[in-house]
Amino acid sequence: MMMKEGEGQQHGRHAGEIELKKLGHLLLGYLPVMGGRIRAPRYLDVEERPMRGVETCTLCGVTVNMGEVCVRNLDRELATELPFIAVHALVTHGDRVFHGALHGEGQIDVDRLKDVLNYEEYRIGRLITALLAHTSLLPEHLTIKEEMMRGVVPCAECGDQVNMGFFEIANTHNGESMRIPYLALHALVEHKDTGYAAQSDEHPDAVDLADEEHLDMERLRRILGQSRAHAEFGKRIAGYLAGLGGEEEPPRHVDVVEHPQRGLEQCATCGEGVNMGYFELRNKHTGHEMQLPFISIHSLAAHGDAYYRGSLHHGWVDVPLLNRLVKRTWPIVQRVRRTRR
Ligand SMILES: [Zn+2]
Ligand SMILES: [Zn+2]
Ligand SMILES: [Zn+2]
Repeated sequence: MMMKEGEGQQHGRHAGEIELKKLGHLLLGYLPVMGGRIRAPRYLDVEERPMRGVETCTLCGVTVNMGEVCVRNLDRELATELPFIAVHALVTHGDRVFHGALHGEGQIDVDRLKDVLNYEEYRIGRLITALLAHTSLLPEHLTIKEEMMRGVVPCAECGDQVNMGFFEIANTHNGESMRIPYLALHALVEHKDTGYAAQSDEHPDAVDLADEEHLDMERLRRILGQSRAHAEFGKRIAGYLAGLGGEEEPPRHVDVVEHPQRGLEQCATCGEGVNMGYFELRNKHTGHEMQLPFISIHSLAAHGDAYYRGSLHHGWVDVPLLNRLVKRTWPIVQRVRRTRR
């Protein structure tokens, strides 16, 4: 959005949703028409339909190809079609609404796009990678034990050499644990794929990993998602939401806008009916915002589970990101002034 200097502070900054920007970048990577250079994974069929001519974003004036793209997930038999201007809206504005001079204003089905791109799975892979690299980030409900082995195996998809060992991740809150080969984590992060296998023909060490296996994502979600701290945090956020019966004022630096809808969706965990609408939360200082369905906070508060499954919405709440969003931070402008003095 174009804003004059100073205006941002009066009306609050709009930096969009970080999550949507990441989703947009993932998709853009697969689109040569928009400058993408990443080969789409094996389960994804990306069909670009560029047209002669450009379309202007009415928000920022940038032009993109006026055509569309159709992306199909062959494993899930799920497809989505988007004009290129929608990809621009995600990447540049972190916005689920696009504003094109030709396609007009339109809403992007973000949940569907996430499913098509295996985005939630990829995000879980990224989270685990971060936890392995910085054990100080480990939340109190998780432990990780690494069992690196001497030797590497080549990934069947890309040929990269990956340590043939594994790590064990355990949840001290619900007692569940899981052994995950490094090869599986590689496939999750690099190929956004829950399936993994090693090339076995030329490599005797790879025999154990030669047959394609699939990560048990349901279990992994329970291990990563369920904790007492999540329940505490969820209850705090639920307190700000009238749609969930909350009666507390949010902190002054946080804007909460609720969009309740007529009707309920059922929580798959407990069967409770929760308003099928959603809410937006914005940090006035940083301009960052997040949009989540009510069921997600019900899941956090009632089950301590960051992974939510309702009859309408399903997904994963990025708790650290949400936590940063409601935390008090100083506007960047003020910080600069202070250091100058
Ligand atoms: Zn734009
Ligand atoms: Zn690979
Ligand atoms: Zn429930």
